[in-house]
Amino acid sequence: MTQTPSRTGTVFLVGAGPGDPDLLTLRAARLLMRASVVVHDGLVDPSILAMAPRTARMISVAKSRSRHTMQQDDINALLVREALAGNDVVRLKGGDPFVFGRGGEEAEACHEAGVKVEVVPGISAAMGAAAAAQIPLTHRENASIVSFVAGQCKGLSDQNWAGLAGVGRTLVIYMGIATSEAIAEKLIADGLSPEMPLAVIENAARPTMRVLRGQLAGLGALVRDNKVKSPALIVIGDVAGRGDMKDMQRVLEAVQ
Ligand code: SAH
Repeated sequence: MTQTPSRTGTVFLVGAGPGDPDLLTLRAARLLMRASVVVHDGLVDPSILAMAPRTARMISVAKSRSRHTMQQDDINALLVREALAGNDVVRLKGGDPFVFGRGGEEAEACHEAGVKVEVVPGISAAMGAAAAAQIPLTHRENASIVSFVAGQCKGLSDQNWAGLAGVGRTLVIYMGIATSEAIAEKLIADGLSPEMPLAVIENAARPTMRVLRGQLAGLGALVRDNKVKSPALIVIGDVAGRGDMKDMQRVLEAVQ
């Protein structure tokens, strides 16, 4: 006779923030420090994974060169299987689980299987990058609308971004590095000024962070010439022309 476990575990969908362990919520840190099973993706910084107990089972569902990312269905099945076996599972995701994190799909799969889910929000890359680069996403003088879009999707040119970027707005593009040239062309074709300020923030909130500033027409070249690699965000709007770079310019002018 097969034994049914006396209790079903809970799946905790936990946001790990952009990289710096200090940017975890207390709830995320507490769950991680007492975890017995951790299922994590590739964006989670090793310094955060190191917070789990040595005895914890660490399961990576990350992309690696030799094999493809575990299919989403397989990840869902893994979470459900572990929980039904009686284990609480800490499912760690970069940033926030519900911002381009497929947290919704995982929560639904758990609900369908009768597994309890708790969602622990994390600092999404947009917030982490904005803070680290000191680029406000809204500003009374420059922007009262912020949009988050995914730049990697197939059929980029078919997506309707009308009204998301321009004067008074900030557009934050996730996963847009590989398609940066096409993104700039698309936005200029939609009527945006080729001189619209932008910033590319690579490895935000990590020791290797780089902040590159430029203008919309030069986005492709900025990414190419500086060999920008994922993970990186593109922030487009007048807010990207503010901040420390501008201050630095002012300081230089004052000195001359
Ligand atoms: N759930 C995550 C997003 C996952 S999609 C979140 O809320 O942040 C992956 C994309 O997020 C990357 O391609 C990149 O555009 C962005 N990203 C994640 N971490 C980042 C970081 N530390 N610096 C810059 N961009 C980051």
